[in-house]
Amino acid sequence: MSQLVLRGGMVLTLDDAGTYLERGTVVVDGDRISWIGAAEDEPPTAGDAEIIDATDKIVMPGLVDLHFHTALGKGYNDHLPLWEYLDECWYPLIRALDHDAAYWAAMASYTESIKAGVTTVNDMYRRLDALAVAAEEVGIRAVLSNDIALEEHDLDTLQDNVDAFHRSHGAANGRIQVRMGIEWLPLASPELLRDVRRAATDLGIGIHIHLNESMSEVENSLQRFGRRPTELAYEVGFLGPDVVAAHCVHLSDDEIRMMAETGTSISHNPSSNAKLGNGIARVPEMLAAGINVGIGHDAVECNNSADMFEVMKFASLMHRAQRQDSALMPADLVLRMATRNGADALGHETGRLVVGAKADVILVETNSVEFTPLLRDTPVHLSSHLVFAANGSAVDTTIVDGKVLMRGRQLRTVDEDLIVRETNAAFRRTVARMDVVRREH
Ligand SMILES: [Zn+2]
Repeated sequence: MSQLVLRGGMVLTLDDAGTYLERGTVVVDGDRISWIGAAEDEPPTAGDAEIIDATDKIVMPGLVDLHFHTALGKGYNDHLPLWEYLDECWYPLIRALDHDAAYWAAMASYTESIKAGVTTVNDMYRRLDALAVAAEEVGIRAVLSNDIALEEHDLDTLQDNVDAFHRSHGAANGRIQVRMGIEWLPLASPELLRDVRRAATDLGIGIHIHLNESMSEVENSLQRFGRRPTELAYEVGFLGPDVVAAHCVHLSDDEIRMMAETGTSISHNPSSNAKLGNGIARVPEMLAAGINVGIGHDAVECNNSADMFEVMKFASLMHRAQRQDSALMPADLVLRMATRNGADALGHETGRLVVGAKADVILVETNSVEFTPLLRDTPVHLSSHLVFAANGSAVDTTIVDGKVLMRGRQLRTVDEDLIVRETNAAFRRTVARMDVVRREH
């Protein structure tokens, strides 16, 4: 079994007790953390262990991007509101997507993420076979779900998602999982929600859905169903602890109560909500109600960066600006949302550094002006730098399932030049097909 020793770093475990080691070592055996302690107490290591000098680096859990879409069209359309953007850009593009384009889109998306310290993505997209191959090659932990919608919308069907489950769930040492994914209520019906819920329960897997993202969605739901989106999802028994509801920007008090009562997790995606002009979610109220809230970047079409350090900063500052309250959303809380809350939402043994857990770990370089001054004995100061001062380029090393995917910012599993070339070509091919698909649709 391979062994990895991360020696002498500032170990921010984010465990229940908030354990912090100013100079600590983390040992990984195979895919799990086997030892954490002070550097001077380090246990004997195997002769062939890979030793990583973590001096001047923060050793912490990898980030969990709780609402993620593989994406191909970054910067393709930057100024439309959500509904128009979906109809004119996102849906035509993903309808035109072939297996090869999905594969290169996922290679590019997952690579962008691991370069910025993301170790898990909760990815709702199409052509999951291609995504699973990409996730296996890149080495990221991926939870994949389809874009299920009513048939007339020409996206994915429930059967597509069930087939993907049978083909890819549990692949790559369990690193790749499949969940059910339903696009959003404007493309769904109460019957479809019930069918997806039943299939997820039968297969023992969770569900990923967009809920209450925009006012246009809420109005559409009131018009068609006489209910707000989350009210409808609650009424048909769709919600539960295995559901990740993305956005939830416009939740009523009743809907917050429904989320809390059912144990549903929410992915807060503040930079996407800001860019698409959707508004600001009521995260302080969600947290006060006891809801598990993680963080996601959404997709690079509606964010333009998959950098979760940026998203963390938005997740704090937007609420402070809106409510004129500088005490809201402190850095250590936001850091936990971006790691352990996301892992908990997916039922993963990641998101904190504890012995026995899966080894998804990142090393963040602090020997830079961006991290200066640095109070090494004060973990809250490290959190402050991570959330407010850093961006993803400070990530030096990314480890998933005990495997080093990037070290010293050198990618080990992929050829970035090749990905850039092929993804550019795939984008051009897909855009050319979009017009054909538009005419057929
Ligand atoms: Zn989304």
